Amino acid sequence: MTGSERIYARVFQEKEEKSRIKRGGATHSKGRKQKKKETGKRMHISKKAAAALVLLLLAGSVLFGTLVWWSIGERQGSGTHGPGFGNKSGDKTEEIRRSEILICLDPGHGGIDPGTEGVRSDGSRLYEKDLTLAMAQKTAARLEARGYSLLLTRTGDVRTVPGTSTDEVNARRTLAEERGAALTVSLHGNAYCGEGRAYGARVYYNPESPVAAACAEVFAEEISRHTECMTGRAARAVADPTYAILANPDMPALLIEMGFMTDPQELSLMAGETWRNAFAEALAEATDRWIRMS
Ligand SMILES: [Zn+2]
Repeated sequence: MTGSERIYARVFQEKEEKSRIKRGGATHSKGRKQKKKETGKRMHISKKAAAALVLLLLAGSVLFGTLVWWSIGERQGSGTHGPGFGNKSGDKTEEIRRSEILICLDPGHGGIDPGTEGVRSDGSRLYEKDLTLAMAQKTAARLEARGYSLLLTRTGDVRTVPGTSTDEVNARRTLAEERGAALTVSLHGNAYCGEGRAYGARVYYNPESPVAAACAEVFAEEISRHTECMTGRAARAVADPTYAILANPDMPALLIEMGFMTDPQELSLMAGETWRNAFAEALAEATDRWIRMS
């Protein structure tokens, strides 16, 4: 072969080689059946690979989602002073945290001590000890539904210890202290026998406790928000160092005079379910708000 013929022959050979590869020639490619089988296998493998990839992606996004959720939860739950909560959706962690918080409700008076006696226009009577117990139970039910642990200083028409009224109140405060209540709310009905009209709720706190002062503001706000439309008067937070139930400034406590039982209009409201439900809701809302921010 001449040089040019050799070049031509090589080019021709290469062309032949390429076309054999294209046709599936014996030297460089597998038989059609085998190729199909191989392709099927490859497709099978690639299907498996795709499925694995999808699974990986799914697992990845679930993990990512969980991490995001966890980090949000951590951020929301890492208040500097207290337990803190996420949202109101009631997830498990939130419920567990709330169940670790003890709220003490103290229905003022009881047993031989009826407290103030309210006389309604029809002559029927409402005793403060009955009003406070009914309101403590209503509020307790709402707080329990929100996941909190509750301590009621009494659940019936009783005095808890023998002795004077001061002994009784001291015993109730000691109970709340010993049980480690995060907040103690003592409920009462007010009385006024002077000139003019006295009405509206008052939230008393120990002036030695800035925490109790802040807490009282929250309660006064919520009570106003829920009941001012009925009573016509906003609740007030009032500093008072004289109440025995508030004596320990290290234990956040409030004494709430829910309204004046000597005022016929307010007494009529306090005897009815509309006011009672609204007031109990206000107490539950205020407790929840304060626990979240404290
Ligand atoms: Zn009272």
